[in-house]
Amino acid sequence: MKYLFILWLLVASQLALAGTTLIYAGKLINGADTAPLVEQTIVVRDNRIVSVQPGYTDSRDGETVIDLRDYTVMPGLMDMHTHLTQQFAANSYIERFKLNEADYALNAVAYARKTLLAGFTTVRDLGDFYNATVALRKAIDAGKVIGPRVYTAAKSIATTGGHADPTNGYRRDLMGRPQAAEGVVNGVAEAREAVRQRYKDGADLIKITATGGVLSVAKSGQNPQFMQDEVAAIVETARDYGMAVAVHAHGKEGMKRAIEAGVDSIEHGTYMDKEIMRLMRKHGTYYVPTIMAGNWVGEKAKIDGFFPELVRPKAAAIGPLIQETFARAYRNNVKIAFGTDSGVSAHGDNAQEFALMVAAGMPAMEAIRSATLHAARLLRVDDQLGTLAAGKLADIVAVQGDPLADITLLQSIGFVMKDGVVYKGPDQ
Ligand SMILES: [Zn+2]
Repeated sequence: MKYLFILWLLVASQLALAGTTLIYAGKLINGADTAPLVEQTIVVRDNRIVSVQPGYTDSRDGETVIDLRDYTVMPGLMDMHTHLTQQFAANSYIERFKLNEADYALNAVAYARKTLLAGFTTVRDLGDFYNATVALRKAIDAGKVIGPRVYTAAKSIATTGGHADPTNGYRRDLMGRPQAAEGVVNGVAEAREAVRQRYKDGADLIKITATGGVLSVAKSGQNPQFMQDEVAAIVETARDYGMAVAVHAHGKEGMKRAIEAGVDSIEHGTYMDKEIMRLMRKHGTYYVPTIMAGNWVGEKAKIDGFFPELVRPKAAAIGPLIQETFARAYRNNVKIAFGTDSGVSAHGDNAQEFALMVAAGMPAMEAIRSATLHAARLLRVDDQLGTLAAGKLADIVAVQGDPLADITLLQSIGFVMKDGVVYKGPDQ
């Protein structure tokens, strides 16, 4: 009996070691500190970081070593603005009449994998088709498909004819009259209903389109599209269910109403001015820039016939402004969380946003922290994610070389661990 017990102890301790991984980090950006550390060992057991130790700790029997001594190791990257069920192309306006729910779901499976392997271990999805990203999140969490941690708004909420009204631009008999469940509301009661419907559908947060947008087949890219009482009803109802509110906005008036109602983030934010930035600082509102999307629509607007005629002038006017807006917001101390609007640009290219942020004046370290620490704070999961420290979830990525010297290196992530499982590399 005693021997059996000792044997059990031996086996149990070996099992514990077998689940232990030592990651040797040549350089470590931990998300919390503003300067990198060198020659550190991250000890991971199961799906959590046990400790981060200076130097390279010797391994014991049964422990796995992952040698990233030539790499810069960082927390898993987090993109606060993606659309995983789609990827925009010239034929996207026709696709809406050809694709079924299953097509969107399978799109999401493919794009989620690309996103994870590009180093993005967490995303917010800010508008999908048919709630497919709720199913995607469940499938990823159950280990059935490979992808990032998904926090989804499911179908975004618009007003009639507004940005994200799903039947904009259709002929009259196809337009129908989409309701709260489909993401179209008018008035306080329907605004509340739409939030509660998303809770019921399994969404994690709420996305509204507070102003016109570029890609919808509608005239204005910036007019306000929610009345003050409607956006207030959205925020108050979302609060009851513990859901944050993300707000698409280009024009100033729509941003102002949303910020004063207490929303969590402004997406794009193209025409924000000093007054808006002051309001954002006062209310602690995050800015999610999506410079990539601006540049992408600006480029495509130069191609004859790429966009419908109503869309093209909006894309040409709004797209090229966002990088400059970002530069002003950074200089004016607005809180910034990383977001790309991938699904406009191609999934997997997310890290290109870093180079655009750095080109606009943000130091590389701050750009990385916008996609780690600050993104985790916006998601309200900074007790679990966004920094590399004892007790945090083991979402860890790495790149060969020094991204603080060359930010474009982040476009070639060579190692991806999510929840303690290695999905990529290291690529010696
Ligand atoms: Zn978007």
